[in-house]
Amino acid sequence: MSSRRDFLQKVSLGIGAAAFSDLPAVAAHINRGQDKQLRVAIMGLGGYANIVAKGMQECKIAKITGVISGTPSKIETWKQKYNIPDKNTYNYETVAQIKDNPDIDLVYVITPNSLHHKHVLQIAAAGKHVICEKPVADNAKQAREMIAACEKAGVKFYIGYRLHFEPHTKELIRMREAGEFGKIMHVNNYAGFKIGDPTQWRLKKSLAGGGAMMDVGVYSLNGARYCTGEEPVWVTAQEGKTDPVKFKEVDETITFQLGFPSGIIANCGCTYNFNHVEGLKLMGEKGWAEMNPAFGYGPIRLNTHKGNLEAPDVNHQAYQMDGIADCILNNKPDPNVSGKEGLKDMIVIDAVYESLKKNGAKIFINK
Ligand code: NAD
Repeated sequence: MSSRRDFLQKVSLGIGAAAFSDLPAVAAHINRGQDKQLRVAIMGLGGYANIVAKGMQECKIAKITGVISGTPSKIETWKQKYNIPDKNTYNYETVAQIKDNPDIDLVYVITPNSLHHKHVLQIAAAGKHVICEKPVADNAKQAREMIAACEKAGVKFYIGYRLHFEPHTKELIRMREAGEFGKIMHVNNYAGFKIGDPTQWRLKKSLAGGGAMMDVGVYSLNGARYCTGEEPVWVTAQEGKTDPVKFKEVDETITFQLGFPSGIIANCGCTYNFNHVEGLKLMGEKGWAEMNPAFGYGPIRLNTHKGNLEAPDVNHQAYQMDGIADCILNNKPDPNVSGKEGLKDMIVIDAVYESLKKNGAKIFINK
């Protein structure tokens, strides 16, 4: 059994600590003063932006210095709450002016999915680094354009894949990379919840790009990629629709299968119409892992053939923001959260929708 004591012992000996090597405690060693922090403006001040801002109060090397919003009353609230000066506030019409603001290094785009493409292009044109929320865009074509725009502007482009900074998830990936599960034989991931308000943007194709697959299916899919370390080469998908009125424009429940080069298959799913559906299962020749909860804001749990891993429960948003700040400020490689990772997921999501259109046909993925 891998007890908490074993785990802490390993970490203190530096064995198996790779998964924790860039946590904020370590990042703090950089010994950066206030002026060396990554200064972040948040674009879109809705539900998740508020969670990010709250989490960022724990950050050591990232801080909120600006906002972009179309709602003046929200700007007022954020100014008071986070001590943001007037000169660092913008609306969607004035956002291009951010290029002249030395108080802002990076913009975190937290707007509805179908606006990500337009907003990331605007931020790249303003010469600021950018984090974009998942899903990166409506489709792979848009994601490629976003990557190209950021490359052309010489700015870094990340996706808000917070789990790649989360200790249990990092330990799962470390164990897989170290061969502790042996050859991976099967993966089974599910994510979802019962969505409320039928008038919200998440149920409108023009703002959401799609339904459960875009919003939470991306966790099952991204999880299958970090469970296997491989990229899918084919996809099949099926949709269950029990409420065609509420889910008139977007998908309700999708199951999808991913075929990998090694020959293994991941069986994945996502829903917008029932609760208590969450989990990741990895089965290998030498061992297994189960995460449940696997994709929420925490606590995340990891159980393996070695026992329960009792890693720290951290604030995902704070860890993500300090982690990305560490990559930018210290020119470090990111843990698979670049725009290119968003594109890899988007290519598969495109294939899921193509399979649905073709009655579940097997779609081969061209890279
Ligand atoms: P939300 O509806 O709570 O907030 C969206 C914000 O965008 C609002 O402030 C809204 O005013 C603004 N907005 C700007 N232009 C708009 C327009 N034309 N129509 C509607 N709203 C507009 O949504 P949210 O839950 O904060 O989600 C925002 C993004 O964050 C989504 O892409 C979502 O997938 C992502 N998200 C990620 C996580 C995560 O864990 N990484 C969690 C929740 C949401």
